[in-house]
Amino acid sequence: MMMKLSRQFTVFGSAIFCVVIFSLYLMLDHLQLDHTKSPNNGGDKLQNGQLSILQDKIDRLERLLSENNEIIANIRDSVINLKESVKDGRGGLDGGNMSQGHYLELLASPPLVLPIDSQDCQFATREFSKPLLDVYDLLTFDNHDGGVWKQGFDITYQDNEWDSEPLQVFVVPHSHNDPGWLKTFDDYYRDQTQHILNNIVVKLHEDSRRKMIWSEISYFSKWWDNIDNQKRDAVKRYLFEQGQLEITTGGWVMPDEANSHYFALIDQLLEGHQWLERNVGVKPQTGWAVDPFGHSPTQAYLLKQAGLANMLIQRVHYSVKKHFASQETLEFFWRQNWDPASSTDILCHMMPFYSYDVPHTCGPDPKICCQFDFKRLPGGRVNCPWRVPPQPITDGNVQQRVQMLLDQYRKKSKLFRTKVVMVPLGDDFRYAEALEWDQQFQNYQKLFDYMNSHPELHVKAQFGTITDYFNALRKLSIEPGHPSASLPVVSGDFFTYADRDDHYWSGYFTSRPFYKRLDRVLESHLRAAEILYSLTLANIQRFGKLNDFPAVENNRLLTEARRNLGLFQHHDAIAGTGKDMVVIDYGTRLFHSLLNLNQVIVNSAHWLVLKDKSAYSHNPSKAFLQMDDIQPSQDALPQKNVLKISSQPRSVVVYNPTEQDRTSVVTVYVNTPHVCVITDHGHPVPAQVSAVWDDSTTPHQDLAQVPALGLGLYQLSTAVSGGAETAEYVFLRQGGELSVNMKHFTVNIPQDRLKLKENGSEHQIKVEFAWYGTTSNRDKSGAYLFLPDGEAKMYSPARSPVIRVTKGSVFSEITTSFDHVTHTLRLYNVQGVEGQAVEICNLVDIRREFNHEIAMRLASDVDSKDRFFTDLNGFQIQPRRTMAKLPLQANFYPMTSMAYIQDPGTRLTLLTAQSLGSASLVSGQLEVIMDRRLNQDDNRGLGQGVLDNKVTPSTFRLLLEKRAKTDGGEKPSPLSYPSLLSHVSSLYLNHPLISMAVSTEAQSLSLTAFTPLASSLPCDIHLVNLRSIQSKDGGGPSDEAALILHRKGFDCAFSNRNTGLLCATTQGKVNLFQSIIPVSLTLMHTTEGGSSKEEIRLKPMEISTYRVQLT
Ligand SMILES: [Zn+2]
Repeated sequence: MMMKLSRQFTVFGSAIFCVVIFSLYLMLDHLQLDHTKSPNNGGDKLQNGQLSILQDKIDRLERLLSENNEIIANIRDSVINLKESVKDGRGGLDGGNMSQGHYLELLASPPLVLPIDSQDCQFATREFSKPLLDVYDLLTFDNHDGGVWKQGFDITYQDNEWDSEPLQVFVVPHSHNDPGWLKTFDDYYRDQTQHILNNIVVKLHEDSRRKMIWSEISYFSKWWDNIDNQKRDAVKRYLFEQGQLEITTGGWVMPDEANSHYFALIDQLLEGHQWLERNVGVKPQTGWAVDPFGHSPTQAYLLKQAGLANMLIQRVHYSVKKHFASQETLEFFWRQNWDPASSTDILCHMMPFYSYDVPHTCGPDPKICCQFDFKRLPGGRVNCPWRVPPQPITDGNVQQRVQMLLDQYRKKSKLFRTKVVMVPLGDDFRYAEALEWDQQFQNYQKLFDYMNSHPELHVKAQFGTITDYFNALRKLSIEPGHPSASLPVVSGDFFTYADRDDHYWSGYFTSRPFYKRLDRVLESHLRAAEILYSLTLANIQRFGKLNDFPAVENNRLLTEARRNLGLFQHHDAIAGTGKDMVVIDYGTRLFHSLLNLNQVIVNSAHWLVLKDKSAYSHNPSKAFLQMDDIQPSQDALPQKNVLKISSQPRSVVVYNPTEQDRTSVVTVYVNTPHVCVITDHGHPVPAQVSAVWDDSTTPHQDLAQVPALGLGLYQLSTAVSGGAETAEYVFLRQGGELSVNMKHFTVNIPQDRLKLKENGSEHQIKVEFAWYGTTSNRDKSGAYLFLPDGEAKMYSPARSPVIRVTKGSVFSEITTSFDHVTHTLRLYNVQGVEGQAVEICNLVDIRREFNHEIAMRLASDVDSKDRFFTDLNGFQIQPRRTMAKLPLQANFYPMTSMAYIQDPGTRLTLLTAQSLGSASLVSGQLEVIMDRRLNQDDNRGLGQGVLDNKVTPSTFRLLLEKRAKTDGGEKPSPLSYPSLLSHVSSLYLNHPLISMAVSTEAQSLSLTAFTPLASSLPCDIHLVNLRSIQSKDGGGPSDEAALILHRKGFDCAFSNRNTGLLCATTQGKVNLFQSIIPVSLTLMHTTEGGSSKEEIRLKPMEISTYRVQLT
C-alpha cells in the first residue's frame, strides 16, 4: 500500500549524522555537582582550579582533533556542493524526478518558499456567526447557597403541567468501574468487576424489564475471555438483542479528556470498538462520561466521527451547570467551533447536579434522593450522610414514597425542555452482589408499577438504557411536531472544572508528570511500530512469503501495547490520581510495552532494510538491530547504548516516523571521539562530537535526513585522521558573561535572556522558575486540586548555578544546573524545521520538597493582555482568557501539545512533549507547572498525597513567529490555529527519529534504504496511524489496515521566512496508488458514498479513516 502526493516536487532524502565520544571527562562527575546528595557543599567544590584542569583536557582533546580539520573542511565542502546541486534540482520542481530511493545528502536549500495553496489559507480567516455564548463573561461565580440544591436554585412547578403530556422517566442503572484507582485494574477485576458482570447475566435474565449499561471494554473483554460459550451466547441473545444491556461509548476506558492526546483517544476507542465488532457485534450509539474531570470537544468530535449519535457528560463547573440549568440548555448540540454548518453536531446531555451517585441524580434534593438508593437500606455497609435512611417499598408506604420521588423527577425535568427525564441509578463499582440487585430493582419496580397504574399522576416510569432515553428525547425535540423543544447549539470546552467553592481541578493537569511524559513516548513508539509493521506486511505480500518474520507474535505485542496505552488513558491513570502502587502498575505496563514495541520496530526494520529478503531470519536471542535508546525500568530515565566503533564501518538504521521528509539531529553514543559518518552511498554526513558528562561515553550528534516514513542507512567508523568536529565547552560559575548566537537566536548568560530575532524585529524572552506552595486553609492541594498560597515566588537558588556552554557546528547549548532543575537551552544549526525553534529540556527533581510545585515561566514583551491559547488533546486550539474574578488556580488550563500568546505583530508558542498544566497570569507571560509534591490528600477519595516524585524530564520547543499585521488590532475570536511550521515542529518534537544499530555479526549482509512514499504528504495532512487490522479469528493480522488521516487547520498569517518545510499543501487532496474504502473513525460503519477511491479530499480539521489492503 502506498500513498503518493500528486507530484508536486521530488524527494530529497539523506541524512547528516554526526557523532563522537570519549571518556576523557570522567572527572567531570564533580561538575554534575551531585546536588541531590550534598546540597550544601557540592557546588562549591567547583573551584577555578578544577575548571582549568577541565579546560586543559578540552584543549588536549581539541589538539587531538585539530589534525582532522582538513577532513572536516572536506565534509563541509561536500555539503555545500550538495546544497548547490539541490538548488539546481529544484528547477525541476514540477516534473523533475530525482530517481526515488537514491538520496542526495543535503541540508535543505535556503531560499525555499513554501508552496502553500492560497485557498488553503482561507479556512483560518473565515468568520461565521457563532452560537457560542461566552458563558464565562456572563457568570459572576458568586457561589450562592441555593437551598437543598446547594449550587443551584429553587425549582417549582404547577401540578397540572403534565396533564396533557405525561412525564416519561427513564431510570438508567449503571456501575462505574475505574480500570485502576485505589486498586489496580486486576485487583478491581478480581474483587468487584467480575462479580458485577456475572450478576448482570443472572439478574437481567430474571426480569426482561431490567436494564443496564456498561462502558469499559478493558473490563468487559477480560471477563469475556473468562466465561464459557453458553454464557457468551446468553449475553449476546438475551441481553444485547433484547436491548437489556447496552454498551455505552465502547472505548477501552472512559478517558481523561484533559491530558490525553487525540492519537491515544482514537486508539483506545478503536481498540474497544474493534473488540466489540469481533466478539459481540454491537455498535455503540451513545457516549457515557460521568467521571472525567472536565470535558473536551475533541472527545465529542471523535464520538461523532465514530458514528455515535448522543453523549452524556457530568463533571462541569458548578456555576456553568447552574447557568445551563437556568437557561434550559443542559441538552444541546455540541458543535466544534470551527464548524460553520452542523456536520460535527452531536446531541449532548449535561448532568445538572453535583455528582453521578444516586443522591445527586433523581432530583435537586440529595436528602430525598439518597432515600431511593436501596443499597443504603439500614443494616448495609453504606448509609445516607443526610441521616434519613431509605425504606423498603411496601404496600403501606408506596403511595407516599412515590409522591416524594415523583416530586424530585418533576423538579429535575423542569431543567430540561422536553417532558422526558433521565435518572442515572448507580455509583462506583455498584451491583456487585445479588442482594444489591434485588434491593434496587425490586423496590424501583414497585415504585414504577404504582406510578404507571395511577393515571392521575401523569407519569410513565421505567428502567432504560441511556439510548432508550435519547431516543425518547429525539422523538420529543428533534422530530417534527415539537418545534418548541428545539435544542440549542453550544461550542467550546468545559475546563477548568470546579466541583465546589474554589476547588478547581487544575492540579491533575500536571500530577505524576513522569508518567505523562512516558505516555507520550509510548504513543510515539506505538505509532512508529504500527506504521512500520503495516508497511512490512505490505512488503511481505509483494515478496510473496513470510520467511520466519514473526507476524503473529508482533501482532500480539502490538495489541498488548494498544491495550496498555489505552488503559493509561483512563481518567485516574494519565491524570496521575491513582494510589502509588496503582501508578507503579500502570508504569510497569507502559514500560513493558515500550520494550515490546521496540522489538516490533527492529523486526520490521530488519525485514525492510534487507536487500535480499530471503536472507531474513528471526532470532530473538541474536537481534539483527539494536534499539539505540533503552529505558532500564518503569521509573527510570532512558539510557543510550554505546556503539563500539572500529575501522570496520558500523551501520546504523534511522527511521523517520513522520510523514514529511526530514532533516533532524540524531544523537548516538560512541566509544571514541574519532568518528566519521557516511551515508549508504558513501557521502559524508555533518557530525559533531560532544562529551557525555556523567559517564564514560560520548554522544555524537548527527544530522539525519530521512524520507517520510522511511528508513535511512548510515555508517559510522573510526576516522584514521579527521572525523566529526568536536564541540567546544565553556564553564561559568560566579559571574562571567557570555552570549551564544545561532541563526535567529542569541542567548545571554547568566541572565538567561533569550533574544529571538525575526525579520529584523527582536524579542527578549526570559526563562525563569518559580515555586507555588499550598494554602494554609483546611483544604489543601492534592493530586486533583491546585490550591496555592497565592502567587508563585521566584526561584532563587542559594548559590549561583554552574553553567556549561557547548558550542558546536551542529548544535550549541547552555546547561544551567540549579538544585532542583537542570535546564538546557539548545539551538540547532540546521537549515530546516529544527533550526527554527529553541529546544528547552528540564530535568526536575523536587523529591526533598514539602508541599511545593515548580513552574517554568517565560516572560516576554509580547503584548498579549489577558489572552492566551492552549490546545485540546493536541487536536485543536481553544482561546483562553485570564480572569481576575476567578482564583489563580481557575486560570490554569491543560496543555497537551502547545500554548501560545500573541499580539498583532508576534506569536510566541511553547510546544510541549508532555501534558502539563499551563497559564498566562500576566500579559507577556506563559507558564507551565513541571512537577508537584503534595503532602496531603485533597478529599476526593484518593486518600493520599503525591509523594512518589521522580527525576522527571520535560521537553519543549519555543517558537517565535512574526504575524502579518492585522487591521484594527486584535478582535477576540473563538477560533485560532497554529502555523504550519508550528504543527510540523510539534510533530518533530513528539516523534523523534529512531536510530538502531546493526549488530556487528550482521555487517556482512547487504542493506538498502527504505522509501515507502514517493514524497512527503502535504504539510497539513498528518498520518495519525496506519494500524493493521486483526484477522476475524483474532489470531493474527489480516491483510487490511486502518489508515487514519487528519487534515490540520492552520493559519497562514505568518512571515514567509524559510521554514525548511519540505512539503506543500494541496487543498486536502491526497492521491493514492490503490483504492481505499472510507469508513467511520473506528471502522464500525461504512460511510456514506463509501465506495473505494483513489483520490481523497479532506476538509480542514477533519479526521478520516480508510480501510486499505496491505499489498
Ligand atoms: Zn472514575
